[in-house]
Amino acid sequence: MDPTPLDLARAALLEERERLLDEQRETTIQAPDPMTYGSQAAAASQVFAQQRDLALRDHNQQLIEAVDAALARLDAGAYGICVTCGRAIAPERLEALPSAAHCIDCQKKATAGRHR
Ligand SMILES: [Zn+2]
Repeated sequence: MDPTPLDLARAALLEERERLLDEQRETTIQAPDPMTYGSQAAAASQVFAQQRDLALRDHNQQLIEAVDAALARLDAGAYGICVTCGRAIAPERLEALPSAAHCIDCQKKATAGRHR
């Protein structure tokens, strides 16, 4: 039996979820240890690395949540439907981004709305 587009979407989402969880495990936040601060520069670069890791982790967490939400929509039979306008999301868009929750129009509006 050939897999349906929804089977393929589920497989892609589960794979993406695994990858994101792996990435998150690799990004372990190191607590700064004052004893290892050799200089101001070393301290600054450690703080920078920590902030970068935190930002990465944050972004990663958001992606995992988006994948989880997409899997929930799959189970609910609402996968591929824009959560904002209720129209079908273009198959090309879902192929490129299986966790997409919005159609391209709503995504554009949301992105434009962020510029303030
Ligand atoms: Zn929409």
